[in-house]
Amino acid sequence: MMPNDQRGLRVPGPTPVPDEVARAGAAPMVNHRGPEFAASMTEVARLIAPFFGSGSDVLLLTGSGTAGLEAAIVNAFSPGDKVLSVTCGVFGNRFAAIAEAFGASVSSLQTEWGRAVSPAALEEAVLAMTGLKGVLLTHNETSTGVTNDIEALAGAVRRLAPDALILVDGVSSIGAIPFRMDEWDVDVAITGSQKAWMCPPGLTMIAVSERGWRAQRHATMPRYYWDLGKARKNAAKRTTPFTPAVGVIHALEAALRLMSEEGRENVYARHRRIGSQVREGVLGLGLDLFADPAAASNTVTAVRIPSALEVTLVRRLREEQGVVVGGGQDWLKGRIFRIGHMGWVDDDAVDGVLMALRAVLQDTRLDEAV
Ligand SMILES: *Cc1c(COP(=O)(O)O)cnc(C)c1O
Repeated sequence: MMPNDQRGLRVPGPTPVPDEVARAGAAPMVNHRGPEFAASMTEVARLIAPFFGSGSDVLLLTGSGTAGLEAAIVNAFSPGDKVLSVTCGVFGNRFAAIAEAFGASVSSLQTEWGRAVSPAALEEAVLAMTGLKGVLLTHNETSTGVTNDIEALAGAVRRLAPDALILVDGVSSIGAIPFRMDEWDVDVAITGSQKAWMCPPGLTMIAVSERGWRAQRHATMPRYYWDLGKARKNAAKRTTPFTPAVGVIHALEAALRLMSEEGRENVYARHRRIGSQVREGVLGLGLDLFADPAAASNTVTAVRIPSALEVTLVRRLREEQGVVVGGGQDWLKGRIFRIGHMGWVDDDAVDGVLMALRAVLQDTRLDEAV
């Protein structure tokens, strides 16, 4: 049995936290209006920007990834605005539900789960709309293990609707999969500390383009805590409008140092390598992948559950092997499980999950033979 430490934690967030990062997160508190905190804010801003591929400030808000999605919506739009939701899974649907909750008029382009959104289909959907104010995209759909081609999708929107805002949920991609906000002309990009950033949950990080800021000034959806104008003003003074998750910001500073030491391209390459190792390993055990191989994510892998194991696989991995994977969400519950491999992940972690899976599968096959 594998030791039940956090290296067995293989859900797609929260992800394991290296000791150095955990220690930084447990450091003594400081005044969030004081010089020590300002120094951390400066360091985080400097080190995180390249991972967004943006010259825009990356704002730190205290909340989970969903809070970042909500902040993006309420700062971009007014009630009644026509918004196109482009979804291929649970998180795309959530982004749309938030826009609806705040009164946007949402149209939806649905893609079969397990497949990436086709730029041609998006073009058609954009052409069919008049007065389009914004488009909601998901970079990495964590519920199905699919990565969308944001460059192609954003390009399609920009050609046909030059003024539309492009909002991208990058919660489980930014920091692990290349993201080039400025080059792709994305207006709002959102991520979360507990995904690729090797940190505990508690922060959402969000960047806004100049086009986005112009829209922000006139957007009238209700906002107070998530008012990005306040966050921006305070970020210029290297603080936050309200008391932030100081410990998580300290952790993030340490994590970003580790990521910068490794080198951004090396971080991306490690995720590509690990992603393909996981997929090959899973196929080698005779299991089927859920996602279209052409769009397979390098941060999370969705695996079809053999029918004999439907109910027990995830539980047995945890109880017998000390490996914690994610279950399926929505209608995929009981049909797939998901292996998270973002952030602090290396070859040993992959071996650990595959060994655990092999053991549970072998056992079941023996049971069946009895
Ligand atoms: C995890 C995740 C979210 C939600 O983040 P929370 O921190 O759980 O609120 C949103 N979108 C994607 C793609 C995610 O992976």
